[in-house]
Amino acid sequence: MSLIPLRPLMEASMKYGFGQGGFNVNAAAQAKAVIEIHEMFRAPAILQGADLANGFMGGKTDFMNATLEDKRAGAKNIGNVVKKYAQNSHIPIVLHLDHGRDFESCVAAIDGGYTSVMIDGSSLPFEENIELTREVVKYAHARGVSVEGELGVLAGVEDHVFSEKSTYTNPLDAVTFFQKTGVDALAISYGTMHGASKGQNVKLRKEIVIAIRECMNHLGIFGALVSHGSSTVPKYIVDEINGLGGQLSNTYGISIEELQGAIHAGINKINVDTDIRLAVTRNMKEFFANYPEMQNSPSIGEIYELLEQKKAAFDPRVFLTPIMDTVMYGVIPDEDVNAIVQCIERGVKEVVGTLIVKFDTYGKASFVENVILEEMAERYKTIDKYL
Ligand SMILES: [Zn+2]
Repeated sequence: MSLIPLRPLMEASMKYGFGQGGFNVNAAAQAKAVIEIHEMFRAPAILQGADLANGFMGGKTDFMNATLEDKRAGAKNIGNVVKKYAQNSHIPIVLHLDHGRDFESCVAAIDGGYTSVMIDGSSLPFEENIELTREVVKYAHARGVSVEGELGVLAGVEDHVFSEKSTYTNPLDAVTFFQKTGVDALAISYGTMHGASKGQNVKLRKEIVIAIRECMNHLGIFGALVSHGSSTVPKYIVDEINGLGGQLSNTYGISIEELQGAIHAGINKINVDTDIRLAVTRNMKEFFANYPEMQNSPSIGEIYELLEQKKAAFDPRVFLTPIMDTVMYGVIPDEDVNAIVQCIERGVKEVVGTLIVKFDTYGKASFVENVILEEMAERYKTIDKYL
């Protein structure tokens, strides 16, 4: 099946009241595993590449300093990988750019084959955020690509996205933002937080979600609501990492119950990244503990060294730099690398499978209209008529 834009999936989420996870991928094996587990559960899938993850997939191991060129190359790599896996798949799949930082990064993603982009103008003054987002919507919608914006500031760290304290989204501003920009989806700030240290017993301000949803219904405006920074940070995985010599502390996620409440209040898309990172890191640590002879493997021994050097880290990108061809293109040169690929795939499937069930996404693949980009571009002409 061809990749679809985000819009028809969000329409189905609203119509049938299910939550849809957006899962971040930083390696070919992660993309393959995310697709396979959604297929198993007959669920539609959103694969997300973060702006800087595109740099990493472009071969920039020092991805925090990725240039536009790195991102262009990486967007193409991840686009090609996902398209290849999607071709033989019977479920609807969206490839979405997470936290696009400027217009050019969004263009790079669209050129690479992304079918949905986020433009994060949340650090800009309200009017400037609207201006920038409108510009991206115009470019993207003309190509049938959907757009997500962001309003309000989340606390926490997600690549370059950092802010000292959270500022909740004003529901009135959110409605105005939808009206003036024509975005398909909007990330709001209502108590979630990026990273693995979200604080204990976080309660989400679902009132914000309900207020926006209610006003949108009255005005007859379409708009999906997105929950960023929504990893659950499973305690059993953190405990297992620390049991294997890891040094993770102060790790708290959002509880499944809070997320389910948010879905009922009107959240449509839930972004998850940290849970995947944790499960993959644990699997690799466990593998080297179970097979100590692998610690000296010519092809993957360096991964073990990195795991040992950085015991407080849990971002697989930090550990996978010795096998960049595998990360970027899915190349598997020998059995040792294949074992690491298995660690990655199993980690993804464990946490993503859990959330497909908890978010009620299973069995919903056939509820989503299969719209190709050309058809979506035509529809956007009518939808955006009054912008
Ligand atoms: Zn985010």
